[in-house]
Amino acid sequence: MPNQPYQPLHQETLAIHAGYQRDSQQTMSVPIYQTTAYAFENSQQAGNRFALQELGNIYSRLTNPTNDVLENRLAALEGGASGVVTASGSAAIFYAIVNLAGTGDNIIVADKIYGGSSNLFLHTLKNFGIEARVFAIDEPKTLEALIDSKTKAVFFESLSNPQIAIAPIEEITQIAKKHGIITICDNTVATPILCNPIKWGADVVVHSLSKYASGQGSTISGAIIDREGLNDLIKNNPRYPQFNTPDPSYHGLVYADVSLPIFNLRIRTALLRDIGAALSPFNAWLVLQGLETLKIRIQEHSQNAQKIAEFLVSHPKVASVNYPGLACNRYHNLAKKYFKDGSCSGLISFEITGDLENAKKICDSTKIFSIVVNIGDTKSLIVHPASTTHSQLSEAQLQEAGILANTIRLSVGLENVEDLIADLSVALGS
Ligand SMILES: *Cc1c(COP(=O)(O)O)cnc(C)c1O
Repeated sequence: MPNQPYQPLHQETLAIHAGYQRDSQQTMSVPIYQTTAYAFENSQQAGNRFALQELGNIYSRLTNPTNDVLENRLAALEGGASGVVTASGSAAIFYAIVNLAGTGDNIIVADKIYGGSSNLFLHTLKNFGIEARVFAIDEPKTLEALIDSKTKAVFFESLSNPQIAIAPIEEITQIAKKHGIITICDNTVATPILCNPIKWGADVVVHSLSKYASGQGSTISGAIIDREGLNDLIKNNPRYPQFNTPDPSYHGLVYADVSLPIFNLRIRTALLRDIGAALSPFNAWLVLQGLETLKIRIQEHSQNAQKIAEFLVSHPKVASVNYPGLACNRYHNLAKKYFKDGSCSGLISFEITGDLENAKKICDSTKIFSIVVNIGDTKSLIVHPASTTHSQLSEAQLQEAGILANTIRLSVGLENVEDLIADLSVALGS
């Protein structure tokens, strides 16, 4: 990365260079610092680092130079202030929430979100004494009535997995802002290439890097990015005493007095320190490889998905197709507003004209699409949610989640699109 970049650099350039200063070995590929701990020059330096009077490496549960490159690169791509990477997307979401909420508090969460997040919010966090209040992403105004003095965060997904709903990001963040509440947007499916939630008012962006960001289905990883200026919202905000009063676990540090981005500082110094879902530097390196080509991959995923969605719409055995790139889709205008070039990633869901058994048979008949619950891989994936990812849900809950017995979900990969269409065509029959 040039020392004095010609600002503002574009996403493709940032994805390849941001956050990396070559060391004396001049390695082009970011080195993998596969180490647990770091030596101090002397006891004074050791003491200073523990006191946060000098920033530097102590132990890889807290910081690691390979992870540091990934953190800075993601912050640059999202237009944020700082990043923290974690062992999984789920860990990133958990940390982002418990950085703000504790026993007796509540969070407001969108109804259309990843199943794992919904489990975390409605069950695991409930056991921690944190209540999740659910609002309809399609009616953002309804979230305001759920706010009270104990509300600590609003959580939603920019492009939801698996419902493929696009969030009215500006409307959501404006309501939260009015009440001084921090918004957290899961930007996993959109990726920072297609959408930058911070630009539309989000305070914090979380990612599962396990999907498109790494891109090849090779690593579990996550990240949290906070925005510039978030300190001002937190300082003296009665909702967030943990940042404004001395932290007894950090010799009385008041986070609000620190000039670094304090949302992520506290995640690192308190939550990563104590709960420890740190990302392996090798996995960070894998994600760095993925990020370099993210832009061309997500564009190609989107183009392939667009063509497949158009093929499905006109197929006699397909009852309906859910893909925001289609002009008839209810989220089409939101896609045009929030997503670069209106591109919508590789997620498609569709209903077939038959029943559950027919849907399963179609999944069993594809040769290139593999039956996999993951998304965002270079390889095309197919799944029947009602019998797999959503099989624990009752009929009513399935309806609510927008999943029917005959719904099939695709994660369209990077194979030749004619081959993919031929595969689906044979599986659907005529
Ligand atoms: C997969 C996923 C997660 C969870 O991430 P992991 O890396 O699997 O822990 C969170 N949010 C969304 C939208 C996801 O697709």
